[in-house]
Amino acid sequence: MSLPTSSAAGALPEPLTVAGGGLVGTLLALYLARRGHRVQVLDRRPDLRRGGRSEGRSINLALSDRGWRALEGVGIADDVRRVSIPLYQRVMHDRRGQLTAQPYGAAGQAIYSVNRDQLNRTLLDLLEARPGVRLRFGQQLQRVDLAGRTLHLLDVATGRAHTEPYSRLFGADGAFSAVRGALQRTDRFNYSQTYLEYGYKELTIEAGPGGAWALEKNALHIWPRGQYLMIALPNLDGSFNATLFFPFEGPESFAALPDAAAVTAFFADVFPDAVPLMPRLADEFFAHPTGSLVTVRCFPWRHAADVLLLGDAAHAIVPFYGQGMNAGFEDCTVLDGLLARHGDDAWPAVLAAFERQRKPNADAMADLALYNFVEMRDRVGDPRFLLQKRIENKIAALYPDRWVPLYTRVTFSHLPYADAWAAGQRQDAVMDRLMPHIRAEADFDSPAVQAQLRQELGAVGP
Ligand SMILES: Cc1cc2nc3c(=O)[nH]c(=O)nc-3n(C[C@H](O)[C@H](O)[C@H](O)COP(=O)(O)OP(=O)(O)OC[C@H]3O[C@@H](n4cnc5c(N)ncnc54)[C@H](O)[C@@H]3O)c2cc1C
Repeated sequence: MSLPTSSAAGALPEPLTVAGGGLVGTLLALYLARRGHRVQVLDRRPDLRRGGRSEGRSINLALSDRGWRALEGVGIADDVRRVSIPLYQRVMHDRRGQLTAQPYGAAGQAIYSVNRDQLNRTLLDLLEARPGVRLRFGQQLQRVDLAGRTLHLLDVATGRAHTEPYSRLFGADGAFSAVRGALQRTDRFNYSQTYLEYGYKELTIEAGPGGAWALEKNALHIWPRGQYLMIALPNLDGSFNATLFFPFEGPESFAALPDAAAVTAFFADVFPDAVPLMPRLADEFFAHPTGSLVTVRCFPWRHAADVLLLGDAAHAIVPFYGQGMNAGFEDCTVLDGLLARHGDDAWPAVLAAFERQRKPNADAMADLALYNFVEMRDRVGDPRFLLQKRIENKIAALYPDRWVPLYTRVTFSHLPYADAWAAGQRQDAVMDRLMPHIRAEADFDSPAVQAQLRQELGAVGP
């Protein structure tokens, strides 16, 4: 494993503190260490590599182009690629077990299923090997005194509370960030957190005989059911990690499934092709926690030039576009670029430029994630929607310079999320006007539809 050469000469004197050794905190620390900074990373968990585990988060994640670029920047993309599984399409399962496939992009384009803990461990290994890096586990940040530049920490193993000074602090401590908690108590800090009335439950689709994948391996599987859905991503051992996104309350909800018999009967009715592959369904359903789904928006993301929020601490989003980690990784690439441009000690300029550049994109990504929730649970099961997607693919093939599908802009490009979202909304409006004239795929070739399309494309721009 080789790292690109550090861009800074010797170690810079001022020590930096990263709160949170999750995916974003470790990648950020790697970028900072590469630049010659001395970095310490604090995490409340024990070391993942010595038996610790991620708490209450998905087992595997979809990694796409923005995430890959960030991993390439620290030289580990190839290592991660070797332990990831490309997913070229989504495969929808209807209630009768009939399958419909929809490619994610052009031939060869894929999102990748990666194991969260394995990725985090790889980042920790790499970090530990860097000079000037100190990893501290079992250190829970309880409070930050912004005025006194002091961290209030709890040593989880001993139960001992202590304080430490910091000179610059990066809050990568996730959706319920303690660093953000301190900023929330400052003047003119905007903050909102919005929960969906849905929770999620992780379940297992077992490997077939000899570790074979029981479903198509190179696909993200979706069981869209209108008001709820289940998805599954493959693991290297032949199993799939399935996630049920389901209302907390109501006639079809977690509250309506009180015991094993109710769970088994419900799944047999609505996910009949999956149930035979889930022998531990009822046990897992009650043993695994029910996660909640929150969108966090806040601003500013910095306090003076001492403190910066990144990743979920700045912008937690619902997981339906598979972009939360990718967006957090892109934060690291952007910050690294700003340090290169402004200088490694130009913190006031760097932090101000960072939040100015990232905030509109994080807001757009939050909107996109909510938009895709409706698409995944409901619209992908609708034949009219699937027809619309096929028509959009035809438009993209005919006019590749003028029509890039929204999913492609978000997932397979580095276009700012806000620009992708604006273009997607313009294209949705075009499709709303075009689709009433299209009942079947062949109608696309009619002179009237083609004429309208040319006119629309003239107006919509690239
Ligand atoms: C069900 C689900 C599926 C998802 N799927 C995808 C996907 O397919 N693709 C994708 O890109 N994203 C996905 N995400 C989003 C992704 O998980 C997050 O965006 C990503 O984990 C954010 O990384 P982070 O490092 O900012 O925060 P976290 O991963 O939450 O890490 C925060 C770290 O800070 C530590 N910490 C927290 N509080 C403290 C404290 N007080 N003191 C010390 N340490 C602390 C924690 O122990 C943890 O190690 C999904 C999320 C969910 C819930």
